[in-house]
Amino acid sequence: MNLILLGPPGAGKGTQATRLERLHGMVQLSTGNMLRAAVAAGTPVGLAAKAVMEAGQLVPDALVEGVLSDHLDDPDARHGFILDGFPRTTTQAHALDAMLAAKGLKLDAVIVLDVNENALVTRIAGRFACGYCGEGYHDQFKLPRAPGRCDVCGHDDFRRRPDDRAETVRTRLAEYHTKTAPILPYYDAQRVVTHVDGMADMDHVAASIEAVLARAKANAVSV
Ligand code: AMP
Repeated sequence: MNLILLGPPGAGKGTQATRLERLHGMVQLSTGNMLRAAVAAGTPVGLAAKAVMEAGQLVPDALVEGVLSDHLDDPDARHGFILDGFPRTTTQAHALDAMLAAKGLKLDAVIVLDVNENALVTRIAGRFACGYCGEGYHDQFKLPRAPGRCDVCGHDDFRRRPDDRAETVRTRLAEYHTKTAPILPYYDAQRVVTHVDGMADMDHVAASIEAVLARAKANAVSV
């Protein structure tokens, strides 16, 4: 199954993508993670993207498309992938179709996580992650069971994203509304979109996503 998870920053795309990866062996293709890795490694892409990301704005389409295209070629992605954070503009949506066609891949579903935006700033500003294994936590909703130790790998090196500050989150939300939300009609026209209540608790959201996967699988068999 090849999926797109769509929704504003803080909607839970990363959390659900990680879960799908663990449960189904699909590959999470997060362009945000790819770009952060490029920034950390000081590659030319990272150098070009750093200031734009810190300002909460979108990195130019051509840069992100190049980064994603390389990862779509990973052999693991042949077992199914979850796009998390891509596409974010109409240009990227068209580029994705061209990339998938060229690689002989197809999209099975687009899942939109609907959220109440008033809750998003709290959700995002409180989040942090294990710097070693990437497990996500939150000041209010999910603290490590043993204070200061990651539940998954036991390391004690936690990180916060520089673009998770409240004022940058507001810019990121504005970018979502002006540039990303307009791609929805494009996928609506392809009849691949399902909306899921992203305000429900994590397990309910996960169950709704599983239902979408089951339906997409059944459709793929009957075609
Ligand atoms: P994310 O981890 O998905 O919230 O992305 C973090 C930041 O990376 C975004 O605010 C953008 O600056 C950049 N970014 C990630 N994916 C894209 C994309 N598809 N297009 C443009 N910029 C992106």
